[in-house]
Amino acid sequence: MTYTVAVRTLCEFTAKLGDLDLRFTPSATALEGMAGHAMVASRRGEDYESEVWLQGGHRDLVVRGRADGFDPAAGRLEEVKTYRGDLQAMPQNRRSLHWAQAKCYGALLCAERGLDKLDVALVYYDVASQDETLLVEACTADALRAFFELQCERFLAWSAQETAHRVARDAALTALPFPYAQFRTGQRELAENVYKAAILGRTLLAQAPTGIGKTVGTLFPQLKAMPRQKLDKLYFLAAKTPGRALALEALRAITAPHRARPATAGVLDDGDAVLEQAPRRAPLRVIELVAREKACEHPAKACHGESCPLAKGFYDRLPAARQAAVGAAPESAPRLDRAGLRAIALEHEVCPYYLAQEMVRWADVVVGDYNYYFDLGGMLHGLAHAEEWRVGVLVDEAHNLVPRAREMYSATLSRAALDGVRPRAPAAVSQALKRLARTWNEIVGRQLEPYAVHEELPQGLLTALQNVNSAIADHSAAHPEDVPPELLQFWFDTLHFTRLAESFGTHSLFDVTIADDAQRDVTLCLRNLVPASFLKPRFLAARTTTLFSATLTPMHFHADLLGLPPDTAWVDVASPFDAAQLRVQVAPLSTRFAHRPASLAPIVGLMARQFAEAPGNYLAFFSSFDYLDQVAELFQALHAEVPVWTQARQMTEGARADFLARFQAGSRGIGFAVLGGAFAEAVDLPGERLIGAFIATLGLPQVNPVNEQMKARLEALFGAGHDYTYLFPGLQKVVQAAGRVIRTTTDAGVVYLIDDRFRRADVRRLLPSWWHVETA
Ligand code: SF4
Repeated sequence: MTYTVAVRTLCEFTAKLGDLDLRFTPSATALEGMAGHAMVASRRGEDYESEVWLQGGHRDLVVRGRADGFDPAAGRLEEVKTYRGDLQAMPQNRRSLHWAQAKCYGALLCAERGLDKLDVALVYYDVASQDETLLVEACTADALRAFFELQCERFLAWSAQETAHRVARDAALTALPFPYAQFRTGQRELAENVYKAAILGRTLLAQAPTGIGKTVGTLFPQLKAMPRQKLDKLYFLAAKTPGRALALEALRAITAPHRARPATAGVLDDGDAVLEQAPRRAPLRVIELVAREKACEHPAKACHGESCPLAKGFYDRLPAARQAAVGAAPESAPRLDRAGLRAIALEHEVCPYYLAQEMVRWADVVVGDYNYYFDLGGMLHGLAHAEEWRVGVLVDEAHNLVPRAREMYSATLSRAALDGVRPRAPAAVSQALKRLARTWNEIVGRQLEPYAVHEELPQGLLTALQNVNSAIADHSAAHPEDVPPELLQFWFDTLHFTRLAESFGTHSLFDVTIADDAQRDVTLCLRNLVPASFLKPRFLAARTTTLFSATLTPMHFHADLLGLPPDTAWVDVASPFDAAQLRVQVAPLSTRFAHRPASLAPIVGLMARQFAEAPGNYLAFFSSFDYLDQVAELFQALHAEVPVWTQARQMTEGARADFLARFQAGSRGIGFAVLGGAFAEAVDLPGERLIGAFIATLGLPQVNPVNEQMKARLEALFGAGHDYTYLFPGLQKVVQAAGRVIRTTTDAGVVYLIDDRFRRADVRRLLPSWWHVETA
């Protein structure tokens, strides 16, 4: 059985030695890199071949990739690298890696074209001066072949192990039984739809109620589909930490040692008879990705060998750490969650964060935040593209993807940051910053209102930003140790801004906010409203994607804003709960902003009556902390006998746990929280731990200049400005919050929807269909 590997991966595996060195080396931007490659090619002769696709092999290994260029007239294969700054400062291990890649391509080219000798060249192109430095080595085909085979030999033991793992993994997944005695109500329907979408290579939007086991109900069928779809990886992407924890727990249950049984009759059953066999764990490598600041062992140090002991000799110790992380045999792989990876990393004295990045290449399931795949430079998407992986994607709590993606594709520059970096800026950068400040003043000086949207991005601003980027890049190249942290952060911000500016369009606004009369507190913002054009390629790159949540109504809202493929399937799984379990009562008060003072007493009265009638644990949700505080204050003044606890504006993880710990079977009281906040979703309080919720307002986002601009733009694009800006996001929050009450088929409770607009038909149709809403 053959194993296919990219030239780049092969060389990184075999030829990378020494320290991890992530000092912000002056690399060219992606655009500069592309322009540099094009410039080098344009300087060559007519016969010059760019992007030469090559493939060859050695024993069971197939090696492939694209060489940057071949000049037949000169008999020279070229590997082009763009850079900034001092070429001599490039670490030796990076230079060795470049040579290894060039020589492997050289060997493949000689074999494919029957050449007996070849000049192999590294072309270093300076994006600032546009000069080339050419390093050439005359090689015989035999020498290149020997070099190539040596790299392959170093990789073969690993690739044989990987092949064995893949065979064992796919066999285990094919035979994988459902981890529990039976599916929960609705769970099978969800699982069948996920499986069908995976087999057909489609995107699925799955709305499924809380309490049916969505995490297992999506992971299990995706895993079952992996062998048949020849998927290399499954990405489980979560919006928040609890989602990751639930996924890891579900994966533990699914892969736990079991006595295999043909328990999955129906569409999930491939029809293969599964014989009784000794219990053993499914050989699935699951890795959890966590943010650098959470994984770092030396937060005060920098990521290079002279500063951090876990970066020193990182690549020398990596092979042993990598082997330990995959285990000696397929079913003995250790758990690669945060704690497991940390233990291995520390045992082998390598950085846990960068060990995790390496292990993504060799994992089957990657559990991480949305941004690893959907962000502009999302690592999981980049790797899948570069390595040509076939990936399946699961998006947990997918109603969060629209707001999260808007954040990913927005950029902000603040005047305070610009003014903050200027005094300490090196002389070489200072002029560029001064010009940026002047351009900034011109833009702001013409603006009379505190907030304004500009139809076009001012060209002068873009030029000034590009000059700042180049000046900092050049300075950083020449003096890497002399870049103050605040300047580095400002540089990242300006790079992000200019990168997004390249694709500025109707999906975004360019707006300027002036928060003070002196025009010192000013922000320039590229504000994404419709992330569809950025996300669409991500969905197309995945073999299959399932986005799931309890609140995805209406489908067209998500399809339009996320850029889902036109053939996206939709399933709305019926609730396992009975209408008799939940009394839903509309309280027809007005909670509109102007009427809030008048609403306080009636809301307090309603809550007190309900509590007196059925003492127990309740959550009361409000659209803002201000509203929450006003109601809580009055409630405590009038009903001091009822225990009350309130959500604070900033809460640590410990404080949040304490808040939730108040909800116990047998305890009594009312927790005050905000809609859309930490306690309004992903909170599980079954049985007596929560018997009711009061939801004041429709959760509509605040009417302000930004939201009004969004409304106008979404009206122009989709003809649904109000619904897309206010109504749908608001009702999603309401349904999420109400979903805390009924968690199991034995729960019973009450939900008060406090606002007269809940009686309107267009609002009612956004509520779960199994609710029986009393409007009298
Ligand atoms: S431990 Fe921290 S400082 Fe050291 S290499 Fe890792 S992330 Fe960088």
